[in-house]
Amino acid sequence: MLTDTFEVLDKRFTRYAMGNVHKEVLYTGCRWAEGPAYFPAGRYLVWSDIPNDRIMRYDETDGGISVFQQPCRNHNGHSVDRQGRLVSCEHRGRCISRIEFDGTRTVLASEYQGKRLNSPNDLVVKSDGTIWFTDPTYGIDSEYEGDKAESEIGSHVYRLDPADGSLEAVATDFVKPNGLAFSPDESKLYIVDTGATHVEDGPRHIRVFDVGADGKLSGGEVFVTCTVGLFDGFRIDTQGNIWTSAGDGVHCITPEGDLIGKILTGEVVANVEFGGIKRNRLYICATTSLQAVYLNARGCVSGA
Ligand code: MG
Repeated sequence: MLTDTFEVLDKRFTRYAMGNVHKEVLYTGCRWAEGPAYFPAGRYLVWSDIPNDRIMRYDETDGGISVFQQPCRNHNGHSVDRQGRLVSCEHRGRCISRIEFDGTRTVLASEYQGKRLNSPNDLVVKSDGTIWFTDPTYGIDSEYEGDKAESEIGSHVYRLDPADGSLEAVATDFVKPNGLAFSPDESKLYIVDTGATHVEDGPRHIRVFDVGADGKLSGGEVFVTCTVGLFDGFRIDTQGNIWTSAGDGVHCITPEGDLIGKILTGEVVANVEFGGIKRNRLYICATTSLQAVYLNARGCVSGA
């Protein structure tokens, strides 16, 4: 029997939502929870509480919650790279940074063609080590989640190669690019546009691009439009389904673009991350709370 955690819109969703499973609220007290990243080696999750200028940590082994870092630099998105290091989007730092094995912080990118980045929002690490990130203006639009400033540059999507420091704008036709993730085989890159926050009737959708062997993107048509609120961050399971944040919870969207079900959270969701020993536990950053739900689906490690 499915609990009221799940809303089934299409019977295909029932293979992922299990009976007697319910959402767990692991923590409340955030202002704007974002940027979850799971560290398999330590079985813990870090996530951002952007306006409170802190990174939180949930210890999966004992349920402990702690402040991992405060102040930070109004971090937003996080990811774990292929060497197990933490890579961060910093609003106030206006950069992509990485914590090295000796604990020091390295700024990997802070400007493009001589102009400062806005406020990197979300990122994903490809299997070849390149870091793909979005750079809308949310972190410089006000003093609330960064330092207010005028944008020097458009809101673009970038590919960063930490091996040689090269940075390339790979998509420049977004209003406000936001969450992004690769399909399991990395042949496609999905990118959210939340431009509706700044433009009346603006975009509230996910676009899909083909990823060339040379790192260039092509295509970019609208893949799916959000039905409640806005999409923000999302992750993809091994079957290619998209588990995305939305205004009423988490929406599950098939590789064909069909919305087949929801995880209802009671709060606006900003981002999600697969964790757990089997990568079958979905962590959900839902405005004030960190929640989690077990699924009959496993998060993909793209290109693995
Ligand atoms: Mg975001």
